[in-house]
Amino acid sequence: MQILIAGAGHGGLAAGAALAKAGHRVTVIEQNARGALGHDWEDRFTFSLLTNTLGVAESALPADIWRDRGDCTFMSPDLKTHVDICFDASHRQRVMWRKPLLRLLVDHAESCGAQFLFGTQVIAPLIEGMRVTGLRTQAGDLSADLVIDAAGVFSPVRTKLPARFGIEKTPRRGDLFYAWRAYFERIAEIPAAEIPFEVYLRHAGEAGLSWFCTNPDSTDVLIGRIDPLKPDQLEAHLARFRETHPWMGTKIVHGGQYGVIPVRRPLTRMVADGYAAVGDSAFMTTPMNGMGVDLCLHAGRLLAETVLAHPGCTVAELWQYNRDFHRLYGGETAKNEGLKNALLRMDAEDVDFLFAARVVESADLAGAGGSMTLSALMGKAQRGMRRPPAFGAVVDGLLRGACTAALYKTAPQTFSPEAVDAWSRRIALQDRTVG
Ligand SMILES: Cc1cc2nc3c(=O)[nH]c(=O)nc-3n(C[C@H](O)[C@H](O)[C@H](O)COP(=O)(O)OP(=O)(O)OC[C@H]3O[C@@H](n4cnc5c(N)ncnc54)[C@H](O)[C@@H]3O)c2cc1C
Repeated sequence: MQILIAGAGHGGLAAGAALAKAGHRVTVIEQNARGALGHDWEDRFTFSLLTNTLGVAESALPADIWRDRGDCTFMSPDLKTHVDICFDASHRQRVMWRKPLLRLLVDHAESCGAQFLFGTQVIAPLIEGMRVTGLRTQAGDLSADLVIDAAGVFSPVRTKLPARFGIEKTPRRGDLFYAWRAYFERIAEIPAAEIPFEVYLRHAGEAGLSWFCTNPDSTDVLIGRIDPLKPDQLEAHLARFRETHPWMGTKIVHGGQYGVIPVRRPLTRMVADGYAAVGDSAFMTTPMNGMGVDLCLHAGRLLAETVLAHPGCTVAELWQYNRDFHRLYGGETAKNEGLKNALLRMDAEDVDFLFAARVVESADLAGAGGSMTLSALMGKAQRGMRRPPAFGAVVDGLLRGACTAALYKTAPQTFSPEAVDAWSRRIALQDRTVG
């Protein structure tokens, strides 16, 4: 079978390696040159997923390319309350620079037999009837039995699929964070032995989040908003951070670039005849923090398993991947979206109250859903009733998230356009836009 992968995204590389290893002809078409792949910043992710994907023991990877991530704390907009998330050893993610991470995945896919066309842009999908039959690229038209779309949030494959394919193409306002991220040099000692990874919700009252992470030799700053950032807005936020963190210098030592992060539930339908989307192209991140590497690696594995079991690559066959992903992971991320949207919609003062009254707790922010038990809800109600509109909005967000998650986990057993459309419509009824 000939498989084309649009973009060297993490999930496509993971799936491509497994499929090439099983003897399929796999070609990855990536617009960047090999050496220019990835951003100049780090990712937090679950290390064992990477070693499983690569099929190596942890000890086989050099110890100097990763480190353990620190604990995390969510700050209220008025900076008076923080909600801490402390990771135990078995759930502590690791941090690795994006470029070596992608290098490992590319080298592995290549060693499994995948071919790469670097410096080649994918322009559009080739379509015959209801089937994706290949890709139009700068190097000409290429035919395929399966196109894996790993070209990121603005993928030219997904966004150019005809409407009759029933795959959502355009994110809505609030579905994306427009981010800017840079590492600044550290110019002074820090006052505490360890400062956690700080996440600021509705930072400076704006719809979005920012983070500040103090590293041994730098400070990692991200400003993310639901609308594109203006240069003077960015400068004002950096100045604000320098006031609260006087050890942050002005010299950029890494990054200093813009990026776009999907912060919404994944596509309900992400397959068609001869087509499967994976990673950011299918909006696979945790909405509250925009982390997507874990989900990409999970999805890449599930996609390869489905294709190996059903090499016809019809939509009915690929549906197994779609359904399994939502049952195992998509539902959980959809749960997280309800709370994220509720917090982004409300006034900063309401968010301050919810933090101070412990209505929003670490289990909610981590996306674990542990605070949705009856006794936990009753405790929240007691504390939250001093400000009913804010409490009502956050409970509404939590319940909407829980309902959406339940729907995701009960995707139709087998594919039929009618059943899948009806299921997608029920999910769409759960309002998720940010006003
Ligand atoms: C600032 C920032 C910080 C983040 N931090 C984290 C983190 O700490 N942890 C985490 O898990 N996630 C993090 N993420 C999210 C993470 O980057 C993504 O979820 C993850 O990269 C998965 O995306 P992807 O591989 O599917 O797509 P992408 O990373 O977007 O990769 C898509 C690939 O396709 C290529 N491509 C695009 N269009 C074309 C085309 N037309 N032709 C050919 N090739 C094309 C691109 O060049 C790129 O190589 C962060 C994102 C940003 C922006």
